Formats: sequence, structure tokens, C-alpha cells
Amino acid sequence: MLKGIWQDFLTIVKEEAGSRVVETWLKAVILKEWDQYHNIIYVEAPNIFVKDWIESKYTDLFKTHLSRLLNTAEPKIIFLGPVQVTTSALQHAAQQVTSPAVMEKGPLHKTKNAVVVAGAHQLGRLNPSYTFETFVVGPNNSLAYAAAQAVAEQLGTQYNPLFIYGGSGLGKTHLLHAIGNYLQKKSPHAVVLYQTTDRFVNEFIAAIRFNKVHLFQEKYRKLDLLLIDDIQFISNKEQTQEAFFHIFNALHDAHKQIVFTSDVFPRYINGLEERLRSRLEWGLVTDIHKPPLETKIAILKKKAASHNEQLSDEIAEYVATEVISNIRELEGSLVRILAFSSLTKQPLSLALAKKVLQSCERPKNDNPVDFSKITQSVCRHYSYKITDLRSNNRSKELALVRQVAMYLMKKMTDKSLREIGSYLGRKDHSTVLYAYDKVNKQVETDKQFKSLIEQLESDILH
Ligand code: ADP
Ligand code: MG
Repeated sequence: MLKGIWQDFLTIVKEEAGSRVVETWLKAVILKEWDQYHNIIYVEAPNIFVKDWIESKYTDLFKTHLSRLLNTAEPKIIFLGPVQVTTSALQHAAQQVTSPAVMEKGPLHKTKNAVVVAGAHQLGRLNPSYTFETFVVGPNNSLAYAAAQAVAEQLGTQYNPLFIYGGSGLGKTHLLHAIGNYLQKKSPHAVVLYQTTDRFVNEFIAAIRFNKVHLFQEKYRKLDLLLIDDIQFISNKEQTQEAFFHIFNALHDAHKQIVFTSDVFPRYINGLEERLRSRLEWGLVTDIHKPPLETKIAILKKKAASHNEQLSDEIAEYVATEVISNIRELEGSLVRILAFSSLTKQPLSLALAKKVLQSCERPKNDNPVDFSKITQSVCRHYSYKITDLRSNNRSKELALVRQVAMYLMKKMTDKSLREIGSYLGRKDHSTVLYAYDKVNKQVETDKQFKSLIEQLESDILH
């Protein structure tokens, strides 16, 4: 009988608090016993961390609904700590989830593709080609560059945290790795970790599920330098923010350096707890802009040189003028030109460069469309800001603009509904599906609307 009640309870919580709460916190929880005589309900958690968490956050929820489901007034809820949950199924699942991205650093935990950081002076996943030396400095990024260097030189004392934000493909990840690479070279014993926010989140969720939160926290507290890429993806992930808040404080108190990148200023990260937001703005916040022509030319020449090719001024200028959106694309165009010249055994020339860049049918991957490109185009067209799209404002026009953005994000990228929803600060991915269907229908029936969408698509691609 308790099992059925527990299922009903989970269904209700799912509706009220969202499925993430159930998935993250309540999945391994058991409704253990109901002592009717004393009116005490015993709930058993798989570990102390989960026990403390649900006790502090969800006691009222338990009380309200269990009392109703059990038809009793004012029950007392007692949360119990761990007993063993080491069923083979769980262990098997744990192995799958923990490899390779999760918990690989725990000294007690070895998986086959683990990069063990325990005691560790490993490069982690730093890309060795993203260094300060290979980064071209221009007026668009000189402040961020100087800050990154200062931080790498003097860990934890000057600007902590350092927060670098800017549009996609403008060199944020490059700078992040450069800091790590620099430190690794200077102090080989320093413990550096580069982590994307997505990986951080997954790792945290798996740590809870598999009772490894202590290892998770231990791993982060051991670091000298923590590099977190794309922190905007922590939006609306309440529990992860909580964990991160504590890790942040521990590292910061110990004068360990933290560097973040993001596509927006901290204030515009949607669904971010206030106290975490203020932490992100504590140190130095600096931005990267699109490069001016001269910087683009310098980058092209430097990249060509790294491929052992000389690029004439003429070609460099042409390519730099053609490619406007970002440096990732600039690099892509250059690589295509070099590849074409080498494959067809023709010398590099302006004519050849033109031919390659104008042979318009660019393969899709060469011109990756990302969320920010889409939202930028949509916002530009409708004169809104990305923060409007992410806001809760439900005005009719804004709702339509948001739906158009969602439609294009679904159509033009291979990202999941969930990712699209969360980028726009929407908790429920069914909103995205609904938007897609709605816009799709309108495209089929409304010619003007269709041409507008086509115009947006072409704007995004160029
Ligand atoms: P972001 O993280 O901002 O989206 P990345 O750091 O991934 O962008 O940069 C995209 C590509 O452009 C990378 O290959 C990077 O090396 C290159 N790049 C960006 N900025 C510069 C720069 N100033 N000098 C040299 N290469 C750069
Ligand atoms: Mg990046």
C-alpha cells in the first residue's frame, strides 16, 4: 500500500515542483513506514546529503500531500539516513554514468577512460593550441586578454572571479584554456580543472544519484584553478546552483582562482539565484566584442602561418571583409581556402579565395548555426533584446517573437527541445514543441510570414 501512495506522491510532486526534483532528489527515496499509532511517517534517503536536502526543502511538501494521501492529520515526518543501496543495478548504472565525464577524478573511483586528477597535475582537457601566444590581441579583446594574463600570473589575488562574456566564436573558450595552459607550464604542480557548465551539472546530478557528493565536493575543493565555460547554462538549475555556491565560497575563501565565461553579463543570466549572481560579479567582469577588420586580418595571417602558409594582404583582406560574424567562421573559411588550394594543387590567389567563398553551397557544418546567432537575428528584426526573449513577459507580440526564435532554433540546429527551452529560460520543453508546430503551420498557410522566416534564415546563415 505504501508503494502505491509513494507513486501518487511522486506524481503530485512532479506536477508541483517539476520532474527534475523527482529525478534528482526523490528517485532513490523510499517511503519506509507509517507508524499509525504515533502518526509518524518514516522516509528513507539513500545518503545523508539527500536526506538533509529534502528535509530542509521539502518537509512541508511531504507533510501536505502524505497527510492527504494517508488520510491523516498533522503527521510527523522523520527522514532517515542511508542504508545500503548497492544493488547491482545501481552499481551498473553508476559505472555507466560516471564514465567518462563524471567522478573520474575521485581517488577511490577508477573507470576505464578516467583522467585521474587525484593528487594531480594533469592537463585535464585543456586544448594545448589555445594559448596566449596563439591569441591575437585587438581592441575588441585587449581588456579580456590583459585580465586573463593578470589572473594567470597572480592566481586568486587580483581578480577573483574573472568573468569573461561575449558572443559566440569570439575567443572566450580560447582565453580560458590559455589561462590553464599558462599556469600548467609555470607551475606544473598546480591543479587545474577546465569544465563546461553542462558537464558540471551532469556530474553533480550523478553524484547525488550515486551517493558520491563527498567525492564531488572534495574534487572541486582540491583545485588551484577552476575554469568554468558557458556558465549561462546553469540557469534555472537550482540544486546545481546551490552546490556551486558552496564550492565557489570554499575556493574563493581559500584564494583559489575561478574564471567563468558566458554569453551574457551575469545580470542577464536567466533563473540565477541572486546570491550566486552577486558572486559572479564580485571580481572583474570583462567582455569580448567582434573584431575590427585589422584584427581579423591579423588573425587570418597568424592562422595561415600556423598551417605553414603565407597569406597575402590582398587575400587576407578579402576574407576578413567577407566573413563578418565571428572568428570561428573566419577560421573555417581560411581552412576551406587552404584545403581547396592544396587539394586542387593551385597556388593561393585572390581568385581562388573568391571561388571558394562564393561557391555558396557551403556545407552545413562549415557554418555552424548557434543559438545566439538565431536570437540575435530575431531580436534585431523585431527590435527586442535577448533579455526580453528570456523574460516572463507574456505580451502577445513578444510571445510570437519567442516562438519564432524557438522554431528557428529547432529547425536550424540539432539541439534538443530541452536545450532550446533552457536557453530561453523556459523550464518546460513542451513550450518549444508547441511553438515549433504553431510557427510551422503558419509558414504553410501565410505567404508573407513564410518569406519573413526565410529572410531570417538567410540572415542567420550569413
Ligand atoms: P567562444 O568560446 O567565444 O565561442 P572560441 O574561444 O571557441 O569562441 O573561439 C573560436 C575559434 O576562434 C577558436 O578556434 C579560437 O582559437 C579562435 N579565436 C578566437 N579569438 C581569437 C583570437 N583573438 N586570436 C586567435 N584565434 C582566436
Ligand atoms: Mg566557448
